[in-house]
This record gives sequence, structure tokens and C-alpha cells, in this order.
Amino acid sequence: MTDRLDVAIIGGGIGGLSAALALSARGMNVTVFEEAESPREAGAGLSIPPNAAILLKRGGLCEAIEKITTKSQGLALRTSRGEPVPRPSATPEVQSYQIHRVELLDMLLGAVKGMVQFRYRCVAVGETPTGARLRFACGAVCDADVVIGADGIHSIVQHAIGLTARPTSEGIVAYRGLVQAQKLSWAAELCGLNMWMGDGRSFICFPVSQGRLINIVAFVPTTLDMEETWFAPGDVRTLAGEYADWDAPVRDIIAALDQTFRWGIYDRPPLPYWSKGCVTLLGDAAHPMVPHFGQGAGQAIEDGFALAVLLEHARRDEIPARLQAYQNLRLERTSGVQAASRLAGRFYRSAVGNPSEQAERMREWMSAAAWIFPYDVEEAAAAFLERGD
Ligand SMILES: Cc1cc2nc3c(=O)[nH]c(=O)nc-3n(C[C@H](O)[C@H](O)[C@H](O)COP(=O)(O)OP(=O)(O)OC[C@H]3O[C@@H](n4cnc5c(N)ncnc54)[C@H](O)[C@@H]3O)c2cc1C
Repeated sequence: MTDRLDVAIIGGGIGGLSAALALSARGMNVTVFEEAESPREAGAGLSIPPNAAILLKRGGLCEAIEKITTKSQGLALRTSRGEPVPRPSATPEVQSYQIHRVELLDMLLGAVKGMVQFRYRCVAVGETPTGARLRFACGAVCDADVVIGADGIHSIVQHAIGLTARPTSEGIVAYRGLVQAQKLSWAAELCGLNMWMGDGRSFICFPVSQGRLINIVAFVPTTLDMEETWFAPGDVRTLAGEYADWDAPVRDIIAALDQTFRWGIYDRPPLPYWSKGCVTLLGDAAHPMVPHFGQGAGQAIEDGFALAVLLEHARRDEIPARLQAYQNLRLERTSGVQAASRLAGRFYRSAVGNPSEQAERMREWMSAAAWIFPYDVEEAAAAFLERGD
């Protein structure tokens, strides 16, 4: 046994790979076990908020992230008829990064080369006198000092530590898709996040892949039980019907879509705990949240960097206490972000008054959520450890 902690991460998504980057940089032996045969990501865009981008940049990916992202400040809002909702003054500019999920995953995989084992589906997590034992569908068994469940919304590690998050349908389905920018004459003018809001539904688009593609997400009410998956095909004609009388750019983008995927949106309350012994959770396995605030991946990235600070220099007998500290530090913040995401969705889909009324409501809502962005989780974790909370 060496002095370096052996950390096993279950799940090689955005959360698991970011954690591998952060933990290995602080001297831990990291192995990521991913069930897929090869890197697997949805063909879709994603927004990385500043509270997460700062961590990836500090983790050595500054140049790489600049290369593959489109920077954007703020949000251009319109009503479904296309009337601009004025940007509230006095609200801080938020610098986010728009990115193609596949490019983000490739960047992270490049940074943690050699640490990821594909075709390892974890089927059981058990305790040993000195740590944990993992069993995989392929028959392999592996012991580790620390186990991190980064295995998403249907986490088996969550169940292994005695938890079950109960999903409640939001009554919303999200259609996602990518459009070749060259199909739209006005695409070159499109920058940043653009959102149209209407009664019961909203429509978002932003450029990714250096403007070659435009990512769309359309939230539509549904009474059906929709599958909570990123890979279920949707019907472009049905989507077009949902936005038939909306602003022309919305109709143009939908008309340019070759395919769309649909995803039932489910909400879950915060879990009562995340850590048990030397096993803990991270990302969607710990705090699944509705996607309306673009913080799901951001919070997963924060988790990994917090864990790295809290586990650095830990002795083996200190691991359970350090994982409790991680849970205590992160549960409060992520529960607040879950609540803000829920509110954001209600706000975007509420009946639209006139644009200036809407701007005032926007100002109130943005001020209430402003605490989320200027946050440095590494500083917060170091201070937490020093105080011995
Ligand atoms: C419509 C929509 C839009 C979104 N937009 C944004 C956005 O703009 N910004 C943002 O920050 N977030 C966004 N999110 C949320 C974000 O994508 C997720 O929160 C984030 O990807 C969570 O990462 P994760 O690594 O925890 O989980 P996942 O990405 O789900 O990764 C889990 C991994 O674990 C693997 N796995 C599962 N079970 C096992 C097992 N038993 N053994 C081994 N491997 C296993 C899976 O194959 C997968 O690779 C959005 C979500 C939705 C629904």
C-alpha cells in the first residue's frame, strides 16, 4: 500500500472526468470506471457557467477551453412574438462558455489519459475493513480507499449507500438539436444565449463549435410520461407545431433541424446525505437538477474540485470525516442551486406580460440568483477544512 490514496470513480461523464482531473492533480491515484464501450455523449450544446469554467482553467485547460468554446455574456430575452425584453440594468454580467458536449468530453478525456477504463459497468459497492470493494458486470473486482459515484441520475452507488431520489415529472419535455449554422442566413449575427419566452413554453438557442453549429433547447408542456433519457428521438414536425405562431427566427431554426431528441424533465428533492464511510456521490448522482439554469454540469465540476481539496493529504483513517465535510460543504450550496433552477423554469414559462414588466421580474429573479456565479469552490473547501467544520 502506497501513501497515495486510491480513488475509484464510477462514471466517466462530465462530473467523473472533471473529478479525475482535480484529484490526480492533487496527488491521488485515480481510476474512472465507465460502463460505455467508448466515449459517449449526447450531440448537444451546454453552457459552462463562470463558477465552473474558472476551475477547469485553473486545472490546466485554459487554452483548450478557449479553443473549443464560444464566450457569451448575459442573455438576450424576447417574448414569443419577438419583442425584446430589456436587459435589467444593475444586474451583473455573467460570462459563460458555450460548448459542444462531445468536444468538452474529448477535452476532459485528453486531460486524464490513461485513467479511464471503458466497459466497466459497476454492479455492486461493498465495504471492506480498510475501504471499499467494487464489482463489475464483466466479473472484475477492485478495491479502493475512496469510491465516488459519478454515475448520473440512475446512480447505482446512490442505492448502495441506502438512498433513492424520487423523480417528479415537471410536466415538460425538452427537445434538443443542432443546426448547421450555414443553413441560416442570419446565423453569423447570433451570439450568446438567446431565449424566447411564452405561456407554458420557452425556446433557447446559442452557437457552439466556434459558430459552426447552433444548439437549440425547446421546453414544451406534456401530459405524457416521457422517458428521462438523452437519446430518445423526437419528431421535428411535432416540434414545429408547438411553435407555429412564434417569432420567425424560432420557426426558421426548427425548419432547419434534421433531427431532434426529446427528454422528459424530472425534478428531485435534495438527498438527505451523500457520504457513507469511504463512499460518496457527485454530480447528477448527488444533486440532479432541472436544466433551466444551466448549472447541472457546473455543479458537478465544482463537486470534483471540492473533493480534491478536502482529500488532499488525508490519511486513510480520516477519509470518512473528509467525505462528511464534503457533503456538508456541498449539500447546502447545491440544494440552493436546485431550488434556483426550479424557479428559473417557472419564470421562463410563465405567462408573459408586457416586456417592461417582464424585465422587472427578470431583475428580481437575477438578483436573487446572483450568489451562484462569483464562487470559488476550492477556496471555500480550503476555508472549510481550516475551520474544521
Ligand atoms: C436539457 C438539458 C440541458 C442542460 N444544459 C446544461 C447546461 O447548459 N449547463 C450545465 O451545467 N448543465 C446542463 N445540463 C445538466 C448536465 O448535463 C448534467 O447535470 C451533467 O452532465 C451531469 O454530469 P454527471 O457526470 O454527473 O452525469 P452523467 O453525464 O449522466 O454521467 C454519468 C456517467 O456514468 C456512466 N454510468 C452510469 N451508470 C454506470 C455504472 N453502473 N457503471 C459505470 N458507469 C456508469 C454513464 O454511462 C455516464 O457516462 C442540462 C441537462 C438537460 C436535461
